[in-house]
Amino acid sequence: MNFRNLARKHLQAAKKQIDLHDDSNLRYAALELRMAMEAIVYDRALSFKDEFPEKEYDTWQPKKIMTILIEIEPTTDKDSSLSVGIEELSGKPSQKMKHIGSEKVLSMKNLKDHYDRLGNYLHMINLRSFHRNKSTNFERMRGRCFEIFSILDSVLASPLFNCTLGTFSHIDCFECDNPIRKRVPSMDNDLGVEVECKNCKASYNLEPQGNGNYLWHANRQKILCGNESCKQSINIWEREVGLGKFWFCKSCGGKNTITYGLVFEPSAKIPE
Ligand SMILES: [Zn+2]
Ligand SMILES: [Zn+2]
Repeated sequence: MNFRNLARKHLQAAKKQIDLHDDSNLRYAALELRMAMEAIVYDRALSFKDEFPEKEYDTWQPKKIMTILIEIEPTTDKDSSLSVGIEELSGKPSQKMKHIGSEKVLSMKNLKDHYDRLGNYLHMINLRSFHRNKSTNFERMRGRCFEIFSILDSVLASPLFNCTLGTFSHIDCFECDNPIRKRVPSMDNDLGVEVECKNCKASYNLEPQGNGNYLWHANRQKILCGNESCKQSINIWEREVGLGKFWFCKSCGGKNTITYGLVFEPSAKIPE
């Protein structure tokens, strides 16, 4: 069983409830549609399993998960089509591209438009609506359930799904040798990219060099032993810097502790 199959199961169950033409069944349809939406989004998150942050595994809200996926790959939210061809000139698109297929995705807009509204269908009308003598508009609810069914049906029928193609830069971690692979912007940006080793949490800054090439800078600094007559230095990673952290110097055996410091500079104003 995977999330995509579960999504299909819940979508079929929703269709069954919509087709019964009994208004009281629409709430069950709404529940099934919500579960189908969640399963589709979880399935996409799993397709980014190397990049999806483990600390977000407890997140269940589809919009929150989608926001994370869009941060990882800005095109996650967009329908796409895939074509391949043999390059005749290096770096130039082929003249004969073969269309492989298209991907229809569940977009952030779909989630924003429909997910919360489906949630409203699972509740009693509120006091304000009651006060205004409003009652549940089942006709509208049926229309919306059918609209959402159609969207999810076309997403689940997509011949291509969970494409996570992208440009990657990789090295072996300077600290632990663990291979690190990082998705980088397909268009050169000047901002650089931050990346962390999943194994030892060493952090790096990727500086764009043009043409999709990146220079990896380790976020570590050489720090001299605090003993002025000792010339020993160590490399400290950014993650290791913290108040009260310490190390024993290999050369003089002394203890170096990171503390807060205070720098005072006198006023530039000349006193009267
Ligand atoms: Zn590492
Ligand atoms: Zn020392």
